[in-house]
Amino acid sequence: MTRDEPVLVSACLLGRACRYDGSSNEDHELVRELEAAGSRVFPFCPEERGGLPTPRPPAWIEREGAAAVADGQERVVTEDGADVTAEFLAGARQAVAACREIGATRAFLKERSPSCGVCRTHVGGELVDGPGVTAELLRRAGVEVTGVEGRRGVAPSRPPGTPGS
Ligand code: SF4
Repeated sequence: MTRDEPVLVSACLLGRACRYDGSSNEDHELVRELEAAGSRVFPFCPEERGGLPTPRPPAWIEREGAAAVADGQERVVTEDGADVTAEFLAGARQAVAACREIGATRAFLKERSPSCGVCRTHVGGELVDGPGVTAELLRRAGVEVTGVEGRRGVAPSRPPGTPGS
């Protein structure tokens, strides 16, 4: 990575509580790596940007995978069977648009998410190999996507008495 390089990052990896259950996946190792590289970090949560609330029911790609969703051939559904395909696609398209706007050719995304997963995602309620919908669309748009597990490392220590310690 070059200094000042703009990068899109799953917002939950940066500590934003935007997961379906209202928690985050803050990843201190990634934060340190991006700081050390001097990257310009742009947090982005495709599910929220696509119009879904937090918290929200867990969702997964229905049968095959993100490529079929991107091609309009299958759905993303919640555990209750609600169709959230439009929201997932809207968020993914906005991620592509955001990368174009900020000039990002690289994104760091949360593994195992039906949106952000890069190598692993949820299909039919199971964890399987393959990307989520946002990772698929970013890849198609030429953005290099890197999967990050999340929740690695510990927060930097602060002197006793410092606010937030
Ligand atoms: S994995 Fe992606 S969609 Fe899920 S909370 Fe994190 S940023 Fe949002």
